[in-house]
Amino acid sequence: MRVIISVTAATNYPKKVLSGDINPDFSLWLGLKDIGLGLALAQSAGAPIPLGAASQKMFALPGPWGRAHQDCTAMLHLFSDLSRRTSQKMILTRHFRGVYDMLDTTKEPKVNALLAKLNQALADQRIDQILTLFLKDCYWRDLVALTWNIKTMEGNAAVGEMLSAQLANAKPGNFMLHADRDVSDEDGVITAWITFETSVARCEGQMRMKDGKIWTLLTSIVELKGHEEPLGINRPSGAKHGSDGNGLTWKEQQKKERAEQGYTEQPYVVIIGGGQGGIALGARLRQLGVPAIIVERNERAGDSWRKRYKSLCLHDPVWYDHLPYLPFPSNWPVFTPKDKIGDWLEMYTKVMELNYWTRSSVTKAYFDEATQEWVVDVDRDGEKVSLRPKQLVFATGMSGKANVPNFPGQDVFTGDQQHSSAHPGPDGYEGKKVVVIGSNNSAHDICAALCENNVDVTMVQRSSTHIVRSESLIEHGLKPLYSEEALANGITTELADLTFASVPYAILPDFQKPVYDTIRAQDADFYSDLATAGFELDYGTDETGLFMKYLRRGSGYYIDIGASQLVIDGKIKLSNGRVSAITEDGIQLDDGTNLEADLIVYATGYGSMNGWVADIVDKKTADKVGKVWGLGSDTPKDPGPWEGELRNMWKPTQQEALWFHGGNLHQSRHYSHHLAMQLKARMEGIPTPVFGLQDVHHTG
Ligand SMILES: Cc1cc2nc3c(=O)[nH]c(=O)nc-3n(C[C@H](O)[C@H](O)[C@H](O)COP(=O)(O)OP(=O)(O)OC[C@H]3O[C@@H](n4cnc5c(N)ncnc54)[C@H](O)[C@@H]3O)c2cc1C
Repeated sequence: MRVIISVTAATNYPKKVLSGDINPDFSLWLGLKDIGLGLALAQSAGAPIPLGAASQKMFALPGPWGRAHQDCTAMLHLFSDLSRRTSQKMILTRHFRGVYDMLDTTKEPKVNALLAKLNQALADQRIDQILTLFLKDCYWRDLVALTWNIKTMEGNAAVGEMLSAQLANAKPGNFMLHADRDVSDEDGVITAWITFETSVARCEGQMRMKDGKIWTLLTSIVELKGHEEPLGINRPSGAKHGSDGNGLTWKEQQKKERAEQGYTEQPYVVIIGGGQGGIALGARLRQLGVPAIIVERNERAGDSWRKRYKSLCLHDPVWYDHLPYLPFPSNWPVFTPKDKIGDWLEMYTKVMELNYWTRSSVTKAYFDEATQEWVVDVDRDGEKVSLRPKQLVFATGMSGKANVPNFPGQDVFTGDQQHSSAHPGPDGYEGKKVVVIGSNNSAHDICAALCENNVDVTMVQRSSTHIVRSESLIEHGLKPLYSEEALANGITTELADLTFASVPYAILPDFQKPVYDTIRAQDADFYSDLATAGFELDYGTDETGLFMKYLRRGSGYYIDIGASQLVIDGKIKLSNGRVSAITEDGIQLDDGTNLEADLIVYATGYGSMNGWVADIVDKKTADKVGKVWGLGSDTPKDPGPWEGELRNMWKPTQQEALWFHGGNLHQSRHYSHHLAMQLKARMEGIPTPVFGLQDVHHTG
């Protein structure tokens, strides 16, 4: 016998039952007002099982919760008894915890018992007792909940150190199972979602338990008490019924604000750079009532994408790319063309009511120690404006500061030379010879577009590159969390982001390697063809693939959307070696090879974001803050020591009131929340004692 028990409306569930995906003997929906909806959905699902037959197996229990609880309990006992006697599985979709606990002796009670002990030990401020609940080799990743930092404590001792510093002030407590999320038990690891509070914030997280103790813990701030976002039932009214004193319409109010901000009123935050990062953060701050100006030198929001090479589409699929508050509509393409994402960002900037200054460049900034504020010089379309924010965010792009190599002879070359970020695309180069130096994402995309436009193109590969086919990456890397299937399984974007965040970086390679082992086996022929074509491949230092390379060095890979086949077929020519010199009509490699060129494209990547600080503030401050990005994994381009988190991203830096924001669309969406929380707390004067401010080991 199969019994399906669903608490709440289970909107997808009736469709699955009636389409035969799940075929229970009995189905019980426990809900109140949702029961009617559930049945209506069942009726409209086009059931191959006649509804009459199916409905005989359904039990709906309307009535007040207390009553429903009693009935459910009786019913569950009946079902579990039947289930036991017939040795058939009873499936509980969405549990009703009190009832579930009575029946399930394996998961929730274990978690609840541990949480009860944790709450008691926290209330007693007994760090020794708290530590007994953690494994010796545990990980606690905190996103601004207790540490006012983004910090992973690795091992029992590090957890103890953090608690000694933060416990008295943060006063975390009231840890409980998340009301809407299931507990899972797989391979001896129980995974549970939790909620809790600190003295100033409501928080959530995830706990993985092994052998009855905490193995990994993620704690993440949700909202500051008393400063909740006006969302959902708390959304603003919009209409102004009666008089509110100033009598301004929405439009007039917007105009007034635009005229005042930066002139008679100073913003609390200035964000340098209005790409997707600056825009997402700006939207979060707006929601939180933190006055901010985004300064963008381009003419229009979205130009940072529009100005990239013509053929570019996002490499990540739509489910991974949503911006905060406003997801892409369901007709949005899987891979967004660059001009389309540009338009979306422009629209988003408008509807989110951001103070977004276009044609504006930050030319200089310094921190005034006396007033504890920044002085930020802006050239606003020819007008000199001096802003005085308390906080300064660099959202200037981790793929923004072009790395242009210095080769002897660059001055004698008679053709064109461009960094990949300035390469417009193939137009005008038909029939010509182009050499692209580099073999990562941009190099491949640019070569493919040139090749398809009848350009004679050669890619120069200096060192090995990790390649993963886009389909394989989506199937094995992203689909479980970011896909239509994930959504159908109840994994919202927020839940997917938190799940992603829940794996500490120290053990992330263990999670990633099997993914890339599978891909490597599945795509063995593809890799073999590439190797035969002379392409030097790698799978990451420890064969952990693309995402680890991205985190460690932000480069060294290509997500294949077709260029690899052109390399295999010899349509994109390949040369392996280092450039020794640029000549009048081409380039010379260290093995003596000469490659003729009308255009040289340097697809040589981007520099660390603190380079922007050197340009805008000064070198001293850039060095004080140090390298941005990378984990300290001691792999190529990510020198040690181990940091445990991305350097300087979304968290306090060694320079007071200076922050970095950026990353891909997923990171920008997720971590803009945590950065916004830190800024909001400071604006509200909430104490934010930072634990574990990172040391600086590298200047850039
Ligand atoms: C070829 C390519 C493909 C990519 N594909 C993807 C993908 O598929 N999915 C994904 O998630 N990510 C992708 N990325 C990575 C990343 O998401 C993008 O680089 C993205 O543009 C980063 O957004 P950002 O806001 O951090 O920086 P940017 O988009 O670079 O924006 C920074 C902004 O700062 C402005 N600026 C800089 N200095 C100043 C100043 N002094 N004053 C005023 N304004 C200033 C610039 O004009 C620019 O608009 C890709 C990157 C590249 C290069």
